[in-house]
Amino acid sequence: MPHATCYLRNPRVIFLHVSADLLIGFAYVCISATLGYLVYKARRDIPFHWMFLAFGLFIITCGFTHFMEVWTVWQPVYWLSGFVKVICAAASVATALALFPLVPKVFDLINSVKVSEERRVKLENANTELEAFAYSVSHDLRAPLRAVQGLTGALREDYGKQFDPQAINYMDQITSASQRMDTMIRDLLAYSKITRTIPELHTVDLHRAIQDARTMIEADVAQCKADVQIENELPNVIANPLLLSQVLANLLSNAIKFVTPGVTPVVKVFAKDGGRHVRVCVQDNGIGIAAEYRDKIFGMFERLHSVTDYPGTGIGLAIVQKAVFRMDGALGFESTIGKGSCFWIDLPKA
Ligand code: ADP
Repeated sequence: MPHATCYLRNPRVIFLHVSADLLIGFAYVCISATLGYLVYKARRDIPFHWMFLAFGLFIITCGFTHFMEVWTVWQPVYWLSGFVKVICAAASVATALALFPLVPKVFDLINSVKVSEERRVKLENANTELEAFAYSVSHDLRAPLRAVQGLTGALREDYGKQFDPQAINYMDQITSASQRMDTMIRDLLAYSKITRTIPELHTVDLHRAIQDARTMIEADVAQCKADVQIENELPNVIANPLLLSQVLANLLSNAIKFVTPGVTPVVKVFAKDGGRHVRVCVQDNGIGIAAEYRDKIFGMFERLHSVTDYPGTGIGLAIVQKAVFRMDGALGFESTIGKGSCFWIDLPKA
């Protein structure tokens, strides 16, 4: 006889059982579908992902036993319902057996996660301390440097006439070395500032940011008579306007600087639609970068040329990288030696 008879054919009791079994059955199907999706999407990152699949199988078979409960209210398909229970029992026992030996492995995993979390916190603290150290050192270095620059100026003004050409040459070298150090300290401070502050991100007019960047390097553009071509139609991006202008100014400045002597720099700035992000490209006709230096150039003080060939501190691209990451962006470049480079940054679309 169908189960409805056991429920005395009372519609309320039947409704109670049927609705509860249906809800449990659907919930089990949803849970196993979610587990299956999770494992499919993150199978490389989830440890013991086969265990999730076993759980999914076990849960879905449990769900079917509840659907059978609904069916048997009206149809006495007890053999079939029994077989579904057998499948559920097999899946449950297999999962239980597989779970047991997993326990020590899970404890090991928890311990290693704890250790790596401790290491991460230590590393983060050390990094913060190092950044604070870099900031205060560079800040404190400025005072004695200013004294060197001031005193060299005074020496030149008050005693310049008494110096022979060799002494004047030495004075010039002191001046240019201290100017270089001043630029390095300024760049180092700019870098530290980016790491110490959390930038506010909002909609930024890309065209405006590029124009601001261009204004920042106007003197260099005029000096080398560079041809800077900026695309007219540019989309809005989510960024910090000051950081973005700084990033673009650094990229533009490199683009017009690293050209073969005698060649007029031609720089093209344009954007590409990348779906959720906008790719901003700065393309030059410069000397290019060899593939082996791909990662090196974004490091602090990393330079591929001597200061006499191309002036600079080697912090520009480190600032670019840090600032782009702070704006939730990505960056990279393509380059061919002797033909030019194209540096790109990806920023979220507004
Ligand atoms: P800097 O410009 O002060 O030398 P950066 O950090 O901006 O320092 O750049 C690091 C190095 O990467 C440069 O010294 C240069 O060798 C290389 N580089 C950067 N941009 C370009 C470019 N557009 N073309 C060729 N080389 C580049």
